[in-house]
Amino acid sequence: MTGAAETVDVVVVGAGLAGLAATRDLAAAGRRVLCLEARERVGGRAMSWAVDGGRLDLGPTWFWPGETAIEALVSELGLDVFAQHLAGDAVLEPDAGPVRRVRGNPVDVPSGRFRHGADSVAERMRASLPAYAEVRLGTPVERIVRGPVGVQVHATSREGDPVLVDAGAVVVAVPPALAVQRIAVEPALPPDVEAAARSTPVWMASVVKAVAVYDRPFWREVGLAGAAVSYRGPFREVHDMSGPGGEPAALFGFAPAEALGASGAEVADLFIEQLVGLFGEEARTPRTVRCVDWSREQWTNPPIPVAQGGFGHPALRRLVDDRLAWASTETADRSAGHLDGALRAGRHAASLLLQRADAGTQTRLTQ
Ligand SMILES: Cc1cc2nc3c(=O)[nH]c(=O)nc-3n(C[C@H](O)[C@H](O)[C@H](O)COP(=O)(O)OP(=O)(O)OC[C@H]3O[C@@H](n4cnc5c(N)ncnc54)[C@H](O)[C@@H]3O)c2cc1C
Repeated sequence: MTGAAETVDVVVVGAGLAGLAATRDLAAAGRRVLCLEARERVGGRAMSWAVDGGRLDLGPTWFWPGETAIEALVSELGLDVFAQHLAGDAVLEPDAGPVRRVRGNPVDVPSGRFRHGADSVAERMRASLPAYAEVRLGTPVERIVRGPVGVQVHATSREGDPVLVDAGAVVVAVPPALAVQRIAVEPALPPDVEAAARSTPVWMASVVKAVAVYDRPFWREVGLAGAAVSYRGPFREVHDMSGPGGEPAALFGFAPAEALGASGAEVADLFIEQLVGLFGEEARTPRTVRCVDWSREQWTNPPIPVAQGGFGHPALRRLVDDRLAWASTETADRSAGHLDGALRAGRHAASLLLQRADAGTQTRLTQ
C-alpha cells in the first residue's frame, strides 16, 4: 500500500545521539521534524542492559572531563552520573608468560558513567522533544531524492509498507560509510562527498564487547581495579563496569571481532576463561554474561567495512545542495568517535540548516 506523502520541514535519518541532537535543535527552532530510525529503539550504538537492578552498557560506557557537549546535556537533562571505579592495581597479560600485577591503575583514566546506562541519554533526549517532533522507530530509510527545492525520503514501516516523506531538508545522522552503502541518494552525491563518506571508518564497529556480572566485585577485595591489558587476547582490555557502589558487580572486555571468529556462547566462554586467567578462579562463576558483536549489527557496521581513515572530513561538514547535512560522531570536528562528538555533529548539522534558512537560501524550512 502506498499512502500519500507526509510533509515535514526536516527528516532526520537515525535516532542515535547525533540524530537526536539535530532533532532537538531543529525542533527548538520551531521546525517540524520527523526522525526515522531503523531499529526498534533509540540510541544506536548507545545500548544498555537491565540486569540485577542496574543498567550496564553494551556499547559506550564513559564520558571524559572536558567533553563539554555531553557535560552540558547531563546537566540540562539532570542525568544521574557517577565516577568510573579506578582504585586498585591493574593486571597485565603478556603474550607469553605469567600474568603480572601492575601497581596503581595505568589502564583507566578518570571518566564519568551514566547510572541508568548510556542509552538513558538517548531516551531522555527523545522524551524532551516537543509534540511536533516525532521519532519513528522500525522505519529504515532506503532512498533520498534531492529535488529542485526539497527532498523526498523513502523508507519502509515496520509493517512493511512504503513510507514517503517530503521535506525541505534531510539530516543523515548515520555513519557516512553505512549511509552510502545502504541508502540510495539521487542524484549522485558530489564525488568529493561520496569519496569522503566511503573512506570514513565507523568507530567501534568491529569490536565485540562482553560483560560478565558477578555476585560481588571480588577483585576489589584483593586490591585490584578490575582493569587489565592483554597482549594474548582474545580480549585486549578489561575494565570494571560495576554500577555505583559496586552494584551490580561487573567486568567488561573488548575484543576485535575478526580475532575472535566465534559467536554467542563460545565468545562468553572465551571471555570467562580469560577473566579466570586475569583475576583468578572466582571469575569462573558469573551470574550471567552478555556479548555483543558490533560487526554483526546491520545498522552500525557497513556491509563493506572501512578499515582505516580519518574523521571530521570537511566535505562531510557542509551541506550538499543546501539541503542534505551529515551528522554522526564520525563527522565531528572534536571528540569524533565519542558520544560528545555525536552531540556536536548533530548540533552542527542543525545549525547549518538553520543558518541557510535564515539566510533565505533555497532550503525550504517552513515555520
Ligand atoms: C562497544 C562500543 C563502546 C563504545 N565506548 C564509548 C565510550 O565509552 N565513550 C564514548 O564516548 N563513545 C563510545 N563509543 C562510541 C559511541 O557509541 C558513538 O560515538 C555514538 O554512540 C555515536 O552516535 P551517532 O548518533 O553518531 O551514531 P549511532 O549511534 O550509530 O546512530 C546511528 C543511528 O542510525 C540508525 N540507522 C542506521 N541506518 C539507518 C537507516 N538506513 N535508516 C534509519 N536509521 C538508520 C541506527 O540504527 C542508529 O540508531 C562506543 C561504541 C561502541 C560500539
